[in-house]
Amino acid sequence: MINRYLRPHILKLVPYSTARDEYHGPAGIFLDANENPFESRLNRYPDPRQQALRKAVADNRNISHEMVFAGSGSDEVIDLLIRSFCEPGSDKVLVLPPTYGMYAVAATVHNVAVEEIVLNADFQPEVDKVLCSDARLLFLCSPNNPTGNLVERSRIETILDQFNGIVVVDEAYIDFAPGKSAIALLDTHPNLVVIQTFSKAFGLAAARVGLAFAHRSIIDVFDRIKLPYNLGNPSASAALKALGRTKQIENQIKAIIRNREILAQQLAMLDCVEKVFPSDANFLLVRFVDAARVFAHLLKQGIIVRDRSRQPLLEGCLRITVGTAAENRRLIETLKMIV
Ligand SMILES: *Cc1c(COP(=O)(O)O)cnc(C)c1O
Repeated sequence: MINRYLRPHILKLVPYSTARDEYHGPAGIFLDANENPFESRLNRYPDPRQQALRKAVADNRNISHEMVFAGSGSDEVIDLLIRSFCEPGSDKVLVLPPTYGMYAVAATVHNVAVEEIVLNADFQPEVDKVLCSDARLLFLCSPNNPTGNLVERSRIETILDQFNGIVVVDEAYIDFAPGKSAIALLDTHPNLVVIQTFSKAFGLAAARVGLAFAHRSIIDVFDRIKLPYNLGNPSASAALKALGRTKQIENQIKAIIRNREILAQQLAMLDCVEKVFPSDANFLLVRFVDAARVFAHLLKQGIIVRDRSRQPLLEGCLRITVGTAAENRRLIETLKMIV
């Protein structure tokens, strides 16, 4: 079923076979990969398919390990999706602004056209319009960056049932949200790819570990076209370790959500603030009376936020990450200094 969306030459591709792909069996004397033989933590090539990590992720997310892919950040997954499904110069991707900028950039890098359908006033996809598109690949972001809201489940399901292409649901912020992951829809929808990441709730932005969950025929395509050793051992180990301290991470998530609600209340009371949008993520989208002035004032005081005011629907809006309680207090104090 997936094959009709794949680029034809990828169906025929014979992938590079690494030394580690060709050897299966007990550890022995490895004279196959031209490594330096003197043992250190890092002298051997890593497992090209990161099986230990994929199994641990599969247990954590309650899914088969054959439906898990790990890459160098979600950005690698986004790039692989375009390389797998979009023929440069003829196929299109569909994005729903205001949303994450990497989808359009990654498509443009490959000379793949980008169709845009702006979200409605509640930051939800216009399902009827989306279903009229003939794009190969649709990127939904839930909770959406930078608006912070979940995409309604019924909209995701209708799109999955009727969209004639691959539907990507980017769940970088799902661990902060009350809603359930779209992973549960994978069994019934082979055209679905769910993206998650270790960069946000798991606290490993520097390690660069992104995840894709999909039907095994899609994971198999990613494995065939990815760089052979796409994830280094230090990063894979850091991710594995994080999965071993889920209690600590759950507590951090709870603290961030608590601090988000306090910050939202305090921001809403300031004269310079017009509106604080509800958030299911670890950031707040805030409309200011004079966003440019607020941005410059904060910058001068050493506080950096993200200016999203030039995106559709987001006039006057800045995106503010929830920091520690002390950082959030500094933010509020600094905003109060604006006259
Ligand atoms: C932060 C973020 C990511 C994470 O990207 P990584 O490459 O995994 O660090 C993915 N998608 C969205 C929407 C994000 O905001």
